[in-house]
Amino acid sequence: MNPCSVAVIGGGPAGLFCALRAAGSGRRVIVLEKKASPGRKLLLSGSGQCNLTHDGDIGSFLSRYGDNGGFLKPALMNFGNRDLIAFFEERGVPTAVESDGKVFPASRKAADVLNALTAACSASGVEIRSGDPVVEIAIHSGRFLVRTDGTSYAADRTVIATGGITYPATGSTGGGYAMARGLGHRVTETGPALCAVQIKDHPFSDLAGISFRDRTISILRDGRRVRRHTGDLLFTHAGLSGPGILDFSRFIRAGDTLEISFLPDFTPETIEEALLGWITEAGQRKIGTILAAHDLPERFAHKLLAAAGLDPDSTGAHLTKTDRAALIKLLTGWPLAVSQLGSIHEAMITRGGVTLDEVNPKTMESRLVPRLFFVGEVLDIDGDTGGYNLQAAFSTAALAAKRIAGTAIAPGPGAGLQ
Ligand SMILES: Cc1cc2nc3c(=O)[nH]c(=O)nc-3n(C[C@H](O)[C@H](O)[C@H](O)COP(=O)(O)OP(=O)(O)OC[C@H]3O[C@@H](n4cnc5c(N)ncnc54)[C@H](O)[C@@H]3O)c2cc1C
Repeated sequence: MNPCSVAVIGGGPAGLFCALRAAGSGRRVIVLEKKASPGRKLLLSGSGQCNLTHDGDIGSFLSRYGDNGGFLKPALMNFGNRDLIAFFEERGVPTAVESDGKVFPASRKAADVLNALTAACSASGVEIRSGDPVVEIAIHSGRFLVRTDGTSYAADRTVIATGGITYPATGSTGGGYAMARGLGHRVTETGPALCAVQIKDHPFSDLAGISFRDRTISILRDGRRVRRHTGDLLFTHAGLSGPGILDFSRFIRAGDTLEISFLPDFTPETIEEALLGWITEAGQRKIGTILAAHDLPERFAHKLLAAAGLDPDSTGAHLTKTDRAALIKLLTGWPLAVSQLGSIHEAMITRGGVTLDEVNPKTMESRLVPRLFFVGEVLDIDGDTGGYNLQAAFSTAALAAKRIAGTAIAPGPGAGLQ
């Protein structure tokens, strides 16, 4: 039996960062990583360039995690984007901000971020045991018994930092959920998020590559409009992608209908008036040309006219009230049936995870099992694209480490448990 103060399960950004900040004052901190080397997913992040975090006020981050941003408030306020940037800059990894606010290492190399983390772990005396997958956590005589294939560790505190289920080749295969359940925690349904969606009988497959800025997408489920979101859209061969779809994908399910408003500034009522105005101004021009002048790509406008049963050569002046109604219906709510979401091999993040109401947001400590912590993607937290997921991993890790470093060893995790 190998004793340690802290066993961190998972050597991704959350696990490594928690370990290096929890180390010190004689604590023996061990990171147990399943794969032959830590941080495999981190190396893939941002297409290998690692979009570390986002620029701007940390308060604006809270709306970037679907319905669960409130849980992250203490973590983000304790260790925000400025702290993260300072951490890496102090360790020789200068950062650069893109015009859209994304923050990257100036070298654009995720490996520089990972190397800084592992070097900081090593400088803090953290032991990283790679190729040592944890298979079980039990509680015995007030300590955690963390069993790997080869060894058993007796830990005063345990941090579960095993990530989600997407890109399983990186080591994130959802094993942490079983560990959490084994210790009495609930896990909400998990699935792929930050992924493209596939559309049944996709009407725009021949328009793949066409993109739109700031269009409104609604989700219809069982005949009810359940969510609405505005963002940039991209037509792909199989369906829809682009930041607006990726960020909204956490809420989309196979079988849903997406309704897209290609003219989001208008309602069906106001668009009738606008359309009449455009026709009055340019009634002798072809209707496709009139639409193209209003931020709608011409090839898309032709598709629209065909779907509405209109001749692409007809002029604005020839549109009847019925023609206008057909056009308006498609322009403000073209219905698209979702056949499926991107697979776990292509989704960037997992929606769902360890239930948040059983974790203290001020410490990341379990409310059920004292001295058990959850950090990073294993939690029911998923952020938008733009660096929000790595920031959440680092911020939750920093908060757990703060609690670990600030608490003396008192009655063990078994206290009060069977
Ligand atoms: C292609 C891609 C690009 C991305 N780009 C970005 C980006 O640019 N910006 C951004 O903010 N986010 C990005 N993300 C998301 C981001 O990478 C994750 O949110 C982040 O890595 C989560 O960190 P984590 O430490 O919680 O989990 P992970 O990084 O998944 O690490 C978990 C670790 O636990 C280990 N593990 C699992 N089970 C066990 C076990 N039983 N025993 C021991 N070890 C175990 C795994 O091997 C893994 O190393 C991207 C994701 C992908 C897939």
